[in-house]
Amino acid sequence: MKKHNFSAGPCILPQEVLQKASEAIINFNNDDLSLIEISHRSKSFVNVMEKARSLALELLDLENKGYKALFLQGGASMEFLMVAYNLLNKKAAYLNTGTWSDKAIKEAKAFGEVIESASSKDKGYSYIPKDFTIPEDADFFHCTSNNTVAGTQIKEFPKTNVPLICDMSSDIFSRQLDFEKFDLIYAGAQKNMGPAGTTLVIIKEEVLGKVERHIPSMLNYQIHIDKDSMFNTPSVFAVYVSMLTLQWLKDLGGISFIEKVNNKKAALLYNEIDRNPLFKGIVAKEDRSIMNATFTLKDSALKEKFDKMWQEAGINGLNGHRSVGGYRASMYNALPLYSVQVLVDVMKELETQLKNS
Ligand SMILES: *Cc1c(COP(=O)(O)O)cnc(C)c1O
Repeated sequence: MKKHNFSAGPCILPQEVLQKASEAIINFNNDDLSLIEISHRSKSFVNVMEKARSLALELLDLENKGYKALFLQGGASMEFLMVAYNLLNKKAAYLNTGTWSDKAIKEAKAFGEVIESASSKDKGYSYIPKDFTIPEDADFFHCTSNNTVAGTQIKEFPKTNVPLICDMSSDIFSRQLDFEKFDLIYAGAQKNMGPAGTTLVIIKEEVLGKVERHIPSMLNYQIHIDKDSMFNTPSVFAVYVSMLTLQWLKDLGGISFIEKVNNKKAALLYNEIDRNPLFKGIVAKEDRSIMNATFTLKDSALKEKFDKMWQEAGINGLNGHRSVGGYRASMYNALPLYSVQVLVDVMKELETQLKNS
């Protein structure tokens, strides 16, 4: 039986998507050719790219609103650099809520002044800063919607007149937001959309063209837009699997449907973390992530026993990030509610066994 996969990324994908992807590796579209041995300029693949781009915009309700969707390479980490390369003239404001924000800030500093509007670094990124100001004259404001490592999530985005840029790598397509508020959204595929190797970038085209510097072609958003996300050979397999996952999500009922399931999964686990006297959550309750739940055992002497129990229950990927410790249950779109129930049952079982011993 397939494991209950709580891996933080690369992570679980829908079983039917894996099935279709494996078939396409051997014989794509019944063309008697593999998906990964045909030209990316072939009609078969161009259709895949166009479908993936349009599904992304459709699911986010951003069609015909001046946005373009791109599938680029280099991971979300490349976007830390590209965002600043393409949009930072003089100064930009960043919200520092975790490891990934911190890295984005570091990259941006090579291109201009970076204001850290607020940071939760002092408390191990265990909360989301709320009251802070964004300079009116900043070229943009950058934030991370979901902090994959710490397990916090922004519930309410700041109101600002400057362009809003968001790294949504680990919660894109998981909850409904007013996506029109954002001018640029990026997300590495491997958290909630597909295999590693491609990054979705959604750009409101009007924010481009405002910096003076020369931008190398591969790092230039406008060039990728002008070439329909085919400036060079795209990651054909990663784009195809992302397309299949987006189609799967659309067929299920889109973000509004999956958000309900995601909320149920998170409530099930957080209720147990709060109820069970052996466990405690790591981050501020109001900022808890619906995607990545971080928690610890109150008594670390129980670790060996608990680890053995969840592993025997067929659970994979529950260890916390090395910088945080404890446990992290990543509950991305494709993780079934049933898997969360299995984890909760193991937590209850640990409590029962201790009571009886
Ligand atoms: C995983 C992750 C990244 C880094 O993604 P890569 O594709 O490995 O570069 C960036 N931001 C967030 C929020 C992430 O979860």
